Amino acid sequence: MPDEYMSYMASNPPRYVASLTHEPVLALREAILSEYGDYTSTFGIHCPCGNRKLRVQGYAHPELPSLAGPIIVACDLCRTESVVFDPVKHGWSAEQRGFTPWPGTELRQVACETCRHHLFEVATGFQYDNDDDEELPSEEAFHRQDYFLCFFLEATCIKCGTIIEIAGIECA
Ligand SMILES: [Zn+2]
Ligand SMILES: [Zn+2]
Repeated sequence: MPDEYMSYMASNPPRYVASLTHEPVLALREAILSEYGDYTSTFGIHCPCGNRKLRVQGYAHPELPSLAGPIIVACDLCRTESVVFDPVKHGWSAEQRGFTPWPGTELRQVACETCRHHLFEVATGFQYDNDDDEELPSEEAFHRQDYFLCFFLEATCIKCGTIIEIAGIECA
């Protein structure tokens, strides 16, 4: 992390998801940071009950292999579903001026590319402007972690350990 600005982001997840976050497992953190760079914060995701072995569901992007939003993690222990990203509500564009979702998407459950298992340890990445928050009025700069430009989701299969990229979504 390059400076004070990013060390703030590293310890302040976007507010909508903060109650579901923890330190990500090292392999996932490294996978996300090596791919998306220094201006990205990463957090592991758990169910409100504490379970870290989660199913992942999302809507298929009509033109990309990536999932689009909303993206949901589902817990088999307590049957809770939690939204980890919704492009209509979260990220820079949603904060600034709203966002029009892609049409014609269908809900899809993520399976491991290697063994087809469907439980994962999950980590998010939030990428920020490499500058600072000069563009934000001071009141909004107070929660500048909500103004991420890209959202990433990667996961480790709990059965075979394969790391898969689930989503990379621009939201600015
Ligand atoms: Zn649960
Ligand atoms: Zn697997």
